[in-house]
Amino acid sequence: MRIIVTGGAGFLGSHLCDRLLAEGHEVVCIDNLLTGNVANIAHLQGHPRFQYLHHNVTEFIAVDGPVDFIFHFASPASPVDFERLPIQILKVGALGTHNVLGLAKAKGAGFMLASTSEVYGDPLVNPQPETYWGNVNPIGPRGVYDEAKRFAEALTMAYHRVHGLDTRIVRFFNSFGPRMRLDDGRVVPNFIGQALRGEPLTVYGDGSQTRSFCYVSDTIEGVYRLMLSGEHEPVNIGNPEEMTILAFAQRVIAITGSSSPIVFRPLPQDDPKQRRPDISKAKRLLGWEPQVSLEEGLRYTIEYFKSVQGKP
Ligand code: UDP
Repeated sequence: MRIIVTGGAGFLGSHLCDRLLAEGHEVVCIDNLLTGNVANIAHLQGHPRFQYLHHNVTEFIAVDGPVDFIFHFASPASPVDFERLPIQILKVGALGTHNVLGLAKAKGAGFMLASTSEVYGDPLVNPQPETYWGNVNPIGPRGVYDEAKRFAEALTMAYHRVHGLDTRIVRFFNSFGPRMRLDDGRVVPNFIGQALRGEPLTVYGDGSQTRSFCYVSDTIEGVYRLMLSGEHEPVNIGNPEEMTILAFAQRVIAITGSSSPIVFRPLPQDDPKQRRPDISKAKRLLGWEPQVSLEEGLRYTIEYFKSVQGKP
């Protein structure tokens, strides 16, 4: 197949490009490098089945030739970006998704939206099944991302219902691995970077809020299986092993062998108190569940951060 990946130079997007090429597909990666990084796709330059287009998908997208499937993975996604890039996030979720859906319609291509557990907001139900409608503050600092993705989901379903487009919606929960930005501000790069530098690990609030972390190869396996499925409604992809952020900090310290202390910092506004995917649907529909343990995934990620620390 000839496949487009928007956000293909980002963390998940670049791993997806690798996987698609390994499966024998042709890949057109579109990115404007707002939060993506050419270093993530440097190893693909010159690959006979790989093409890179520098473009902002909030503007009209022109791609020559046939296209079979489009993954719309472009968007800043770190809470730090929510404050730094709020308008860009709303634009890529709304205008960008509209353009990419329009391109899929024009090409008769399948389409997958990268959505998020943030559509559940600060959930009042734990774990979160796909049937949960969420608890989102539309005007809070996270609203720019949550509402952009909720709008993108609504638009995707409208294109499916009105135009018969062959669409998919994946809701990612926290995912981690090599190629995350060191300065991304999210908990995994923050804690690993701090532990490796011997600086204090900054736990926000009292650290009792929970998350679960899915290693990137598992995440991409779920994405690939979802593409091959015929499911149009959202599917959660994430790791159900829930832990507190304080316990996660202690795990990072233990695995890195760091002597860093833990310090407590104010909890950002609307930070979800609990988050854990209900993955029964992915298990039933895709035969998918995570294979890589947190410890193993952290070891690979720590090696990556060691190898790039100090590089631009
Ligand atoms: N967090 C933290 N210290 C940090 C960065 C994040 O305690 O240096 C917390 C944050 O408040 C949240 C969790 O870790 O409760 C996960 O944050 P992240 O930014 O990775 O993304 P989120 O899951 O909130 O979208």
